[in-house]
Order: sequence, then structure tokens, then C-alpha cells
Amino acid sequence: MKDIRLCLAMRILAWTALLGIASMATAQYPGAVPPPDSLKKGFDSITQSEAKDYLTFLATKCEGRGTGQPGFQKAADYVADHFRRFGLKPMGDNGTFFQSTTFYRTRTKPGSLVFEADGKKLASEKDVQLRSSSSVDLTAPLVLVRAAGAAATLGTTADQLKDKIVILDSKDVSRKFRNELFLAGAVSVLTVRPTLGAATWDVSQTAPNISTSARGDGSITRDAAKRILDTLAPQAGITLDTPVADGAVSIHAYNPAIHLAAIRESEPVKVSNVVGLIEGSDPTLKAEVVGLGGHLDHLGKRGDVVYPGADDDGSGSTAVLCIAKALSITPVKPKRSILLMTFFGEEMGLLGSRFLSEHPPIPLDRMVSELQMDMVARDSYGPQNGDPNRIDKLEENLDTIRLVGSKRISTELDTIIQEQNKSIGFKFKYDAEDVYTRSDHYNFARHGVPIAFLFDGFTPDYHQPSDTVDKIDFLKLTNAAKLYYLTAMTVANLDHRPVHDVK
Ligand SMILES: [Zn+2]
Repeated sequence: MKDIRLCLAMRILAWTALLGIASMATAQYPGAVPPPDSLKKGFDSITQSEAKDYLTFLATKCEGRGTGQPGFQKAADYVADHFRRFGLKPMGDNGTFFQSTTFYRTRTKPGSLVFEADGKKLASEKDVQLRSSSSVDLTAPLVLVRAAGAAATLGTTADQLKDKIVILDSKDVSRKFRNELFLAGAVSVLTVRPTLGAATWDVSQTAPNISTSARGDGSITRDAAKRILDTLAPQAGITLDTPVADGAVSIHAYNPAIHLAAIRESEPVKVSNVVGLIEGSDPTLKAEVVGLGGHLDHLGKRGDVVYPGADDDGSGSTAVLCIAKALSITPVKPKRSILLMTFFGEEMGLLGSRFLSEHPPIPLDRMVSELQMDMVARDSYGPQNGDPNRIDKLEENLDTIRLVGSKRISTELDTIIQEQNKSIGFKFKYDAEDVYTRSDHYNFARHGVPIAFLFDGFTPDYHQPSDTVDKIDFLKLTNAAKLYYLTAMTVANLDHRPVHDVK
């Protein structure tokens, strides 16, 4: 909450200083010229209030739009419904807007968890959650491993872990440390957590092999761990509340052996890109297409925590909807067609755009450009891409946006965007080529399609539950949409394809 108020207050103050007025009601940035008359109707149809409606739905009603989770399908239905209302041509499977494929979701079969010693039940599935890709059935002695600090390492204590079930009570240890436990031969590692939240499905692209294996990876609540350790063999002076010195590791063995078992079950789940077309008006050029995309998915719901992904990439998906509407009411249709796409699985590794690029509704050699929006509605501040030497200041980024990759294949595409920006007034930054491979445009660039990737930069809310709608800069969002509306129309009307002039 503190963060938000600071942001808004700083933004208003900085705008007041910049414009010399107390209002933020301006539609574009200072110095912008009006768009061409033929595009004015579409341009003006892109409004902050409409963008707010779209984004509020996507970022508050869809549980973080996790690929393979119900919230993602709800968001995909919403986008498809709007494409239909705007009169786009469905370009998905069997005359629908959905281009679908099958993923798999896996969970522990309810009621199947066993955690007992000498036939006595010690924990239930409220206390222990497994995330292994396979089922688990093992009997082994328990050890408690306590560790703290990035320097903690098993060292010579490793041989005490072979064939043991480990309860890991750790603080600020390195990611490597957990792997060390398995390398030392632990058959299961249950990390102590304050609470577990509701059990959720794990989603994967390929079907997991769920036949029984001997290794279990998961979590246990602090209360259950305390109870179990007390029940087994109380060790004088050792409790989970005893402080651990920074860099220290301690290991405590318990008896008797534990029987830990769980059945994992897996089922197919449909995931979909949403694709619609504005058909071109030129009898020849309409076979070619300008692609325009954003990713609809985000991190979804993990346990009880929702990751709203308002900026990432609710903002880009919202802009796609705004542009779809603008194109649909533009009086003179573009010569080339324009393909609007929202992707699944970007956060899992650009999987939706890869699927689309491998099963293109229109052959990729007819895609003359792809315009990508991924995070277009925040004013960046703090370290950029985790680099402590690149610190953005919020007040310097009210009207900036990153243009990534736009000079890599066709410098003409970059020139066109700069030209169209005269009607917007963004200050472009070209300092984020380090994220060139990190969004969906890359799956088109790989095939030689000229791309431009619009990206606002990083804030501390990136990939956090705090990426929420109340922090969104709707002026920036609608200006990104307007810029790409003008760019898509311009490229679609060129008498030639943007020239490939870069090797
Ligand atoms: Zn993203």
C-alpha cells in the first residue's frame, strides 16, 4: 500500500511540474501531433476507461491466468468473446478463436497421503504437500536438517543423509543447498513452511511419468514438523525455535522409520492461444499479415497466493483488445491483413507463441512484421533486470517506453514506429536488448520475421503478487495501444514489405 501511494503521488507531482498544470487529462504526451484523419476514429476509440474495464477483468477475475488453470480459460473466453463482438475472423481450430493444444496437470490424489511411524499416523495432507512428478512410497529414518545463510553447506555431514527423509528448516540458504541434500542421498526433502495454502495442480507441457519412484520433494507446515519431532524422540534442547548461526548446518537423527507415501494423478488439460484476423482489403496483399501479440497467461494461483499480472502481461493483452476494437471500426480497411494473438504459456518458456509459430494460422513467410507488447503500463523504477548498476527513477520514466529488437532485422520497421510516435510523444529507450529473447516476439524473429517489442522496464512488483491494477498507468497503456494501432495500419498499407536490411 505504501508503494502505491508513493507512486501515484510522485507521478502526479512530476506531471504537474512537467506540464505546468494540475491535470493529467491529456490524451497523449506533450508535443504530439494529431493522427491522420483516416485513422482518427480508430485512434480515438482507444480510451483509458475501456482499457481499465478490460484490465480489471483480466487482473482481478481470472486468478492470475495460470496456463492450465481455470482462470486462464476464463481470460481466453473473455478475449475470444471480444474478438467475436468486434467482428474479427476466427483463426483457431474448427472455426473458433482458440488454437489449442494439450498440457497435463498433476496433483496428489486426495486422501492418498501417508505419513506414519509404527503404524501411527503423524501427519495428514493438510500438513504435508508433495510436488514430485511421480508417486512416492518409501520407508526411511527421519533427520532434521537446520541451516542458515548463503554460506551454509553440508560438507562432511553429507554422509548422514543417505537414504533418509529430511525435514529441512532453513533460513536464507542458497538454492544449491537443497540440491546438496538430494546429492547426499536423501530420499525425500520436506521444507518447513509457516503455512501451505490449498493444494494446487502442477501444470507441465509433457505428461509426467507418475509410476512409483523413491524420491519425494515437498513441504511441511511448521506446526506439523514440531509435533512430529516431539512425538518421535524428543531431543533435549533442540526445537525448531532454537536459533541457527549464520552459515551453520546442524543435523539431528530420529527413530523409528517413517512411512511416506502419496499417489500422484495426472490428467490432460486444454490450453489455447486466442487468434483473430482483420482481413485486408487488397485482393493480393490481403494474403500477407501483420502480427500483433501479447501473452494472456501469468503465474496464476500458487497455493492461496494469486499473481494478478496486471502489467505482466494483462497490459499487453488489454492493448491487443483495444487495438482489435480500433481496427474493427476503422472506416478504410488495411491492405494487408492483421492477425491479433494472445498467447498461453509465455511464463513457462514462450510455449504458446512457439506452438503458434510451428502451427501458424497463416504461413510465417507471409507475416511481414510482428509487433509484441509485454508489460506496457508501468513507469519503471529500481534495478533493471536485477542489475544494481542500472537504476531507473520513476519520475524520469513517466513518458518512456523501451523499444526492443526493432532494429535487428529491419531498420525500416524501427523508422516507421518512430514516425508514428509523432502522434504519441513517447520517449523511446533502446537500453533493454538484454530481454530480446524473453517474450513471444522471439519465436517470430527466429523465423526471420521483423519484430518490435514494446516493454516498459522493471519495477519491484515484477513477478510479485503486488503487480496489481491500482498501480497501472493507463495513459501509458492506451498510448502503447495507439502507437501499435498506427504502426500496424501503416505496415499493413505499405507498398512493400519492411526491408530486411540487417543480417
Ligand atoms: Zn510477460
